[in-house]
Amino acid sequence: ERIFDPELGEEETKKEVLLRPKDFTEYIGQKKIVQNIDVMVNSAVKRNQSMDHALLSGPPGLGKTSLAMIIANALGSHLHVISGPAIEKKGDLAAILTNLEARDVLFIDEIHRMHISVEEILYSAMEDYRLDIVIGDGAAARTMQIDIAPFTLIGATTRSGLLSNPLRDRFMAHFHFDFYQPEELAKIISNNAKKLSLGIDEDAELLMARCSRGTPRIANRILRRVRDFAIVRDSSHVNINDVKKSLEMMEIDERGLDRMDRRILKVIQEYYGGGPVGIEALCATLAEDRSTIEDVYEPFLLKEGFLIRTPRGREISQIAKELINEK
Ligand code: ADP
Repeated sequence: ERIFDPELGEEETKKEVLLRPKDFTEYIGQKKIVQNIDVMVNSAVKRNQSMDHALLSGPPGLGKTSLAMIIANALGSHLHVISGPAIEKKGDLAAILTNLEARDVLFIDEIHRMHISVEEILYSAMEDYRLDIVIGDGAAARTMQIDIAPFTLIGATTRSGLLSNPLRDRFMAHFHFDFYQPEELAKIISNNAKKLSLGIDEDAELLMARCSRGTPRIANRILRRVRDFAIVRDSSHVNINDVKKSLEMMEIDERGLDRMDRRILKVIQEYYGGGPVGIEALCATLAEDRSTIEDVYEPFLLKEGFLIRTPRGREISQIAKELINEK
C-alpha cells in the first residue's frame, strides 16, 4: 500500500465515511473558500433556488468531496456523486441529469477527465437547465430539447488547466484548495482521534501533522496506522514513539516525503544531472503515469521548494540536492 496513492480502494472509502467532517464547524481550514461558499449557500436558501455552479480544484485529499457533501447538507438537498471518466456515453449523463430534483447537487469528480462528447451535454444543462439531444444522423438529424430541474453542479479537478474553456466559463465560482498548515492538520487529527476513541499526546499529534504533506487524507491514513501501534501495546492512547515507528514503517521522513518523492528527486539528480528534464522522459524513467506525477507528487515538491519547473523541464533545488547527499 502506498501512502500517497490517490485512488481510494473500496475499503478505504468505507473507513473514510466515519472521518468525514459533517458540517462547516467540523471542516477545518480553507477559511476563504468556506466563507464564500457559506454566502452562496445562504443566498440560495433565501432565494429558494439552486446554488450557483462551483468548481473546486486542487491536489487529491484536500477536502473537495467533503465540502460538496457539507454544501448539499446545508442546502437541504440530495447529493449525487459521479466520476467524470466513468461516464462513457452521453445517454448515461443525460439519464442522471433528467433524474435530478430541483436544487439537488451533482458532484462530478475528476471533471477534467470527462469525455468531450459527454461534457458537451453539460453546457446547456448548466446554463439553461435544458438538454439538447441530437437524434438521428446526417440530413435526418434533429435536436430535441428536454427541460431538467434547476440544479447545482460542483465540479472537482486536480488540474483546472485541463478543463475546456466552455466548461470552465459556465462555473460561476472557482475555488482553489491549498495545502493545509500543520496546526490545521493537528486539529483535524485531534478531532478524528476522538472519533476513533483514541487519546493522543500533543507532540505526537504535531509530528503527524508535520509529516502529512499538508493533506488531511494522508493525516487520516497515518492516524489509522498509528492507532494499530497503540492497540498492539494494549493502549488507547497514542504517544510519539507510536508515531515514529509508523512513519518509519511507511518510509515517511521528517519532511513528510515518502519513498516515491525521494525517488523522483534522486532520478533527476542521478540520471539527469539535477535537470532540467522533460516530464515525459522523467515519467518514462520512473515508469510512472504522467498524471500521477503531475497531480499527486509534484504539487507538494514544488510548494516545499524541492522541485523547480522551468520552460525546459523539471530541476531539483539546492535543498533537494542537500537532502539527497544526506542519505
Ligand atoms: P478530495 O475530494 O479533495 O480528494 P476528500 O474530501 O475526500 O478530498 O478528503 C479526504 C478526507 O480528508 C476526508 O474524508 C476527511 O476525513 C479529511 N478532510 C479533508 N478536508 C478536511 C477538512 N477541511 N476538515 C476536516 N477533515 C478534512
